[in-house]
Amino acid sequence: METWVPVPDGSGFGVQNLPYGVFSRRGELPRVGVAIGERVLDLAELSTAGLLADRRWFASGALNSFMSAGRAVWQATRDRLTVLLTGAAYRDQVEPHLVSLGEVELHLPFAVADYVDFYSSRDHATNVSRIFRPGAEPLPPNWLHLPIGYHGRSGTVVPSGTPIVRPCGQRRGDDGPVFGPTAKLDVEAEVGFVVGVPSALGRPVSTAGFRDHVFGFVLVNDWSARDVQAWEYQPLGPFLGKSFATSVSPWVVPVAALESARTAPPAQVPEPLPYLRCDEPWGLEITLQIELNGHVVSRPPFAGMYWTAPQQLAHATVNGAALRTGDLMASGTVSGPGRHERGSLIELGSDGQEPLVLPDGERRAYLEDGDTVRIQATAAGPDGVPIGFGDVTGTVLPALC
Ligand code: MN
Repeated sequence: METWVPVPDGSGFGVQNLPYGVFSRRGELPRVGVAIGERVLDLAELSTAGLLADRRWFASGALNSFMSAGRAVWQATRDRLTVLLTGAAYRDQVEPHLVSLGEVELHLPFAVADYVDFYSSRDHATNVSRIFRPGAEPLPPNWLHLPIGYHGRSGTVVPSGTPIVRPCGQRRGDDGPVFGPTAKLDVEAEVGFVVGVPSALGRPVSTAGFRDHVFGFVLVNDWSARDVQAWEYQPLGPFLGKSFATSVSPWVVPVAALESARTAPPAQVPEPLPYLRCDEPWGLEITLQIELNGHVVSRPPFAGMYWTAPQQLAHATVNGAALRTGDLMASGTVSGPGRHERGSLIELGSDGQEPLVLPDGERRAYLEDGDTVRIQATAAGPDGVPIGFGDVTGTVLPALC
């Protein structure tokens, strides 16, 4: 499958991907577009020109209305865009609606409804447990039986590029709590899925219902203040140590673009309860990459995640909690077994015991003011064509306390 749009080698935005986002040109209102090569296709203009079916989905500053339209509409739109971008006969009509990515501002792609963050990497859970609870059992007794998660703060989910003000809070001191800027600002490299079709209160969504409800995937950076988190997290879980900001990538990769990336997840022993069983393999061959100030410090492998996205969705709704369009559910920090596969600084630098040494000689246990973090990811696509997630970036600003 070839598109007439120039796509540089390894771009990740080939016609096999077609990720959705919200963009604007100077002086214009945000609208929905699809990334292709180094351009974005303006779906609002395309529909005005009569080239794309639209129920006011695309002249919108958020993907929510399109996402709520359901799987048949998502597939029909994807099929139509594929025809328009591969058929040479459409080139003259479609080309005027392509805009260079360099000319646009990218926005938060969807209005976030509820935000849930899981804890589904066994390597991450084990590494963090050794640091937070030395000598204790590495996994809590429930870990192998359910995908542990917490409800986060949807109102502070921000688009890639948003500066992150170093948070202030309480941490444990030698003589009681200390208040001040966090001394342990960290990142968590994650992959999240976005709900399109809502569900009814009281009706669980099964693992088999995943494709009917979930629109696509984004990259997530779950910024974390480890000293605040360590002091506050027992017994109700993370609160202010994580709620100050969560960054997401501007492009939502459709579930349909990740079919070739699906793979068998790790074997689950003991076998989960029936509501968590999944007939289809939903591991995903995605490799993340974390850059700190331009230096690659880790390449976490997503395929090793113990709990899969359909299991997370089924667990989050098994009590009857309803889904809303725009719900964001993130995987939890993605960490692999290798030293350079860890998805957070607390793991990469062993909580300051072995700080990272960057190629420029700088040492980092945790983030310093002015540091920039960039997370990217690529999935295995059809015929070796990469499916790119773009990136999610953020720069740390000094605390205000
Ligand atoms: Mn997290």
